[in-house]
Amino acid sequence: MNNFVHDQVLKAIRSQDMFSKNDRLLIAVSGGKDSLALWDILLKLGYRADALYVNLGIGGYSESSQEKVVRFSEAVAAGYGATLHIHTVEQAEGAGIRELAMLAHRPTCSTCGTIKRYQFNHAAIRQGYDVMATGHNLDDEAARLLGNVLHWQNEYLEKQGPSLPASLDGFAKKVKPLYRLTERELAAYCVLNRIDYVVEECPMAKGARTLLYKEVLNRLETESPGTKQMFYWGFLEKSRTPATSTSTTIAENDRSTLHPCSLCGQPTTAETCSYCKLMARAKASTAR
Ligand code: SF4
Ligand SMILES: [Zn+2]
Repeated sequence: MNNFVHDQVLKAIRSQDMFSKNDRLLIAVSGGKDSLALWDILLKLGYRADALYVNLGIGGYSESSQEKVVRFSEAVAAGYGATLHIHTVEQAEGAGIRELAMLAHRPTCSTCGTIKRYQFNHAAIRQGYDVMATGHNLDDEAARLLGNVLHWQNEYLEKQGPSLPASLDGFAKKVKPLYRLTERELAAYCVLNRIDYVVEECPMAKGARTLLYKEVLNRLETESPGTKQMFYWGFLEKSRTPATSTSTTIAENDRSTLHPCSLCGQPTTAETCSYCKLMARAKASTAR
């Protein structure tokens, strides 16, 4: 099992030109099976991988997920000399994610996405990491692709590849080395390697569209095994003509549309970035 999983990750890294042994990687860990498995796999394969955990301030869920991350970091990652960084939203942004969303009049998950994207990129750039890696697996990517195709989100489809270039200063390269592995394979890997992860989903995920897409794809997979692979890998094959030219197009597009946020300096298409806008709206509501 370990050999199979490690081989699939190596294939992903090489075929998508993700990173080399000289690069410093920052992994986004949540306490769930995928991101902890990713940290474990990359360390065992000899990569230089540190991790960042963002505590969202969602009561018991955040407490138990942080506990799992810290335990893994102390028991396994520290043995490889890897470091765990923790960002606590309640301390840094002044309130938990649900309260911030209410103050900014935005859905919780979109608030969460904005803050996590900003903080991961910020940490990667500030601390000189070459690449940011996330634990998205085949099920995640196939479900996301289905959603993007159903709504013909062309802009998102362009960026659905597992390796996005560091298109300009201020943006870290982003990769998804687990895109060849399914949720079940990663759960089995965690059990075999005694990786203790938080089993429950984030309470905010209830009713999320992605869960519905995953269910639909699982039904198709039962009836016709290999559907998820065919769907996502097929999409990558077709949009890959060749991989470097896709990366160049994304990088060129980014360079022509992005410039530094007037408040924080992170790249954005508007005058101020979505993180600064969100924080300004939350602050304005508190002041009222
Ligand atoms: S379900 Fe929503 S709030 Fe929870 S981690 Fe995911 S994006 Fe964030
Ligand atoms: Zn900004």
